[in-house]
Amino acid sequence: MTTSALWLSNDFSESPTSSPGQCHTKPTLLSASAASNSKNHFCIKCVDGTRVVPYNVPCRKDQLLRLKKEKFDVLVIGGGASGSGIALDASMRGLSVAMVEREDFCSGTSSRSTKLIHGGIRYLENAFKNLDPKEYDLVKEALRERKHMLEAAPYMNKPFPIMIPMFWKNWYDIFLLPYYYVGAKCYDFVAGSGKAVPGSSFMSADEAKFQFPMLDDNNLLGAIIYYDGQMNDSRMGLHLALTATQAGAAICSCVKVQSLIHDKKTKKIVGAKVKDTEESKTFQIDARVVINATGPFSDAIRKMDDPSVKNIIKGAAGVHIVLPDHYSPSKMGLIIPSTSDGRVLFFLPWENGTIAGTTDSSPELTMQPRATSEDIGFILEEGESHSVFACLDEYENTRAGSREMVADIMATFTSSTKPNIIPHT
Ligand SMILES: Cc1cc2nc3c(=O)[nH]c(=O)nc-3n(C[C@H](O)[C@H](O)[C@H](O)COP(=O)(O)OP(=O)(O)OC[C@H]3O[C@@H](n4cnc5c(N)ncnc54)[C@H](O)[C@@H]3O)c2cc1C
Repeated sequence: MTTSALWLSNDFSESPTSSPGQCHTKPTLLSASAASNSKNHFCIKCVDGTRVVPYNVPCRKDQLLRLKKEKFDVLVIGGGASGSGIALDASMRGLSVAMVEREDFCSGTSSRSTKLIHGGIRYLENAFKNLDPKEYDLVKEALRERKHMLEAAPYMNKPFPIMIPMFWKNWYDIFLLPYYYVGAKCYDFVAGSGKAVPGSSFMSADEAKFQFPMLDDNNLLGAIIYYDGQMNDSRMGLHLALTATQAGAAICSCVKVQSLIHDKKTKKIVGAKVKDTEESKTFQIDARVVINATGPFSDAIRKMDDPSVKNIIKGAAGVHIVLPDHYSPSKMGLIIPSTSDGRVLFFLPWENGTIAGTTDSSPELTMQPRATSEDIGFILEEGESHSVFACLDEYENTRAGSREMVADIMATFTSSTKPNIIPHT
């Protein structure tokens, strides 16, 4: 596979650990200034002044050879968004990194998300309601990450306006409008001045109906528009993985970890036995640290280390149905903040269609989770009962994903002193 230079953002150039000389392998990722000075690399200068280095991703055969021969500082299990991010981060810090994914990169939860880059407007509400500084800090950090993602990869991530329609069904609904307006303004405030997205605003009922023609305008008071980001989740994850190879990591898909290898004397983890499912061959990867980044499947890896550990992952699925594109304008999403059971329902434009769905539905921990008829019925009924759409009977497709929620982090430490990230130095 060939690709042009991957993600040479300013953050890399500013990173104190990004010096190519620190890497164990031969990195070709250069900071902008290093790239401009390099005699060995042909650089392309972009209109915004950024310099990129054309880069050929190494072939699978070469990556497999490295996995078999080298001894790595870090072995990452799982090539989703988390694993790819860890592989990139560790490589940029000068560590030698291996990453294996049993299916295709980002084919798990990381391609089944709602595609939102969000700081968590609902978490901010909780933070204020519960006076919880930790939740507040979490939102602030996520908003910082949102800004970074929008600025580092604008070709696949974009600022994204989301409408919250306000209906007058009960007398007290009149208070909801200022409540949500102030909430959206607080969200802007927490994001700070350089937030990379426009500020929130009020939209009249007429304008809301114009933007969302499928919106039922009975009792419509108006709408609050706030901004988050929209991303291409699997493309973003794949970029992280490929950029990690540019920084020296050896990564491979269709390589499944079958068991962990323990040092006979110290009993510490020193690698993993893996199976190349393309060739049906097994081999071993040696590493000083093994990181479990298998998301909803983390317990299975933890049990390879110690079969007696308690499960800590509580699966939480989410379901999307795909509706025709006329259910949403091409550049704006819509969210119903509170459905009959308290969940959020959203309608978002995505690749010539509209994805409608909710999170936190019935969990089913498989690689290919499916939407149940209850899930689909819930989305269709809620859409109608909230007077959002006059008719919702034409869905084309469904998709579902499971995500990991850590049910009891302390359970990790009760029968074993090793944390979920399994270290060995
Ligand atoms: C319905 C839904 C909507 C979401 N919406 C959003 C959103 O809008 N915005 C957002 O930021 N986040 C969202 N999320 C959360 C986000 O998708 C996840 O946090 C993220 O994808 C988790 O990535 P991960 O790498 O941890 O897990 P995964 O993507 O599941 O990756 C784990 C990988 O490990 C691999 N693996 C498992 N066992 C092995 C093994 N033995 N050997 C090798 N590999 C193995 C799996 O094949 C898998 O690819 C959503 C999640 C869901 C479920």
